[in-house]
Amino acid sequence: MKILEVKNLHVNVGDKEILKGIDLDIFEGKVHVIMGPNGAGKSTLTNAIMAHPNYEVTKGDIFFKGENINELRADERAKLGMFMSFQNPEEVPGVTVSNFIRASRMSITGEKESVIEFQRELEEKMESLTMYASYAQRYLNVGFSGGEKKKTEILQMVMLNPALVMLDETDSGLDIDAVKVVSENVEKFKSENKSILIITHHRAILSRIKPDYVHVLYDGKIVKTSDASLIDKIQKEGYSWVEQEV
Ligand code: ADP
Ligand code: MG
Repeated sequence: MKILEVKNLHVNVGDKEILKGIDLDIFEGKVHVIMGPNGAGKSTLTNAIMAHPNYEVTKGDIFFKGENINELRADERAKLGMFMSFQNPEEVPGVTVSNFIRASRMSITGEKESVIEFQRELEEKMESLTMYASYAQRYLNVGFSGGEKKKTEILQMVMLNPALVMLDETDSGLDIDAVKVVSENVEKFKSENKSILIITHHRAILSRIKPDYVHVLYDGKIVKTSDASLIDKIQKEGYSWVEQEV
């Protein structure tokens, strides 16, 4: 079953058209990978799917679980079970990691949670991400290393427990051990029948997570969809062959 359907999506950033008619189906319980050269529009796609206000949908439709969500705000999409990790997470001074995630979760579920139980669960999940518990009381991403910011995105993912996650280069800037830890956590998350879209340039994050579909996004369009073997081709040959095929 399709959890997300993107149909003929056109997106402008400022007055420039970045996405030029994207068709993409994400299937329930499956892992989809999007690869493509820098500037192709990969981050634009996930931001538009999540209704980031800087990305203007000029044409096309997005369906989540069969429902057209074109008119829904980002917070409304989050409540339906959609989640995106940022390629470049923002620093939010004044808001601790713990308060941020607890407020997000209460907003999504509409239920109040006791601080003590929340804290216990948060610490358990931080431990599995090999994050120091003390980070829970630090301001969100402020002074975090690149890798710590990315782990904090994964922490949000596991705590918010969405049905569909879109991870935008979550592996970039991570050291080898951190890629392994993130990969393990995403794999564990996947085992709960979640739908996952991973944007990456590297194979390492996929060592544990076997992709069901690999899509190539090139100049604002999905130009190829195949199985995991496409990753090997891209690792060997880059994207020069795409030009000829298009
Ligand atoms: P990718 O993630 O595939 O590397 P992006 O979606 O980030 O590509 O960007 C696609 C194009 O859109 C690039 O040319 C980029 O400069 C432009 N773009 C994306 N976001 C913005 C923005 N907020 N302001 C200006 N240009 C942007
Ligand atoms: Mg990007």
